[in-house]
Amino acid sequence: MQPITELLQAGPVIGDGGYLIELERRGRVDSGSGREQVGTGRGSGQFTPEVAIENPDALRELHREFLDAGSMVLQALTFFGTREKLNRAGYGADTESINFAAVKLAKEVAGDRALVAGSVSRTQLTEREGMGSLDKSRDHIAEQIRLLKDAGADFLILETFFHLAEMKVALECAAAAGMPAVATMSFRPFITQCTDGHTPAECARIMTDLGAIAVGANCEQDPQRMLPLLREMRAATSVPLAAQPAAFRTTDECHSFTRLPAFPDDLETIQISRGEFFEFGKFVRAEGIGYTGGCCGCNAAYIRALTRGVNA
Ligand SMILES: [Zn+2]
Repeated sequence: MQPITELLQAGPVIGDGGYLIELERRGRVDSGSGREQVGTGRGSGQFTPEVAIENPDALRELHREFLDAGSMVLQALTFFGTREKLNRAGYGADTESINFAAVKLAKEVAGDRALVAGSVSRTQLTEREGMGSLDKSRDHIAEQIRLLKDAGADFLILETFFHLAEMKVALECAAAAGMPAVATMSFRPFITQCTDGHTPAECARIMTDLGAIAVGANCEQDPQRMLPLLREMRAATSVPLAAQPAAFRTTDECHSFTRLPAFPDDLETIQISRGEFFEFGKFVRAEGIGYTGGCCGCNAAYIRALTRGVNA
């Protein structure tokens, strides 16, 4: 496989879909909703990636499905895999083994047909303890990036960050480790600004300045809702845009599905059809999107539809 920077130049690169929600539906991941109120602003839920060591076959199978659907990149399931987040779920002592197993599994399935990205997300410390916790975040994110690099990930996808301040920390850690990074923010409850108050254009500019090889947004919005924020980013940067929307319908009153009452136990009631990803795929080239895929709610059927749209 060519390195990610070359693939992006040839673009568009088709990534994969969402792992945790799909594996939760298959009974392999715990949402945490049995213990706390998830998503309404109180509890943060669990959604941690221990499936990599507890049920590797289930994860292997989902990787294969995405690969056969057209994914050129498989994300190792290392989302929420910092020691900080794993500690809270009772898996802190398994931080090394979960991150290593996840990269190893993805590489095994990818072979020479796809690249493997290490997924790094927010620690949730910023939501819990405020901006004063950024130094702790830095230690945790740096540790996870070191593990992903040692395990052989080809590049990083820094995703689902709510605070630009924590994304900046992650980009600095990626640069210090010499790892190329795609950087995507998640906007909630509205697409107009991230949690610490920066517009999509500001986010795009700052992520570009910190060396991201592609910048954009993932999760929270369906493709149609995400499009205006992507256009704002497009106008603010010259690096490729990255867009991995969710497959859940949002509303004019709330642009993020994880803030809707349907999250996480009634998501079927807001699921959009794969046809909307086919339609989104048709726009990808015209909108200057160099990296695309799906986030929560996107299984292989959605990635197949997206692939067909991109190539239509
Ligand atoms: Zn998502």
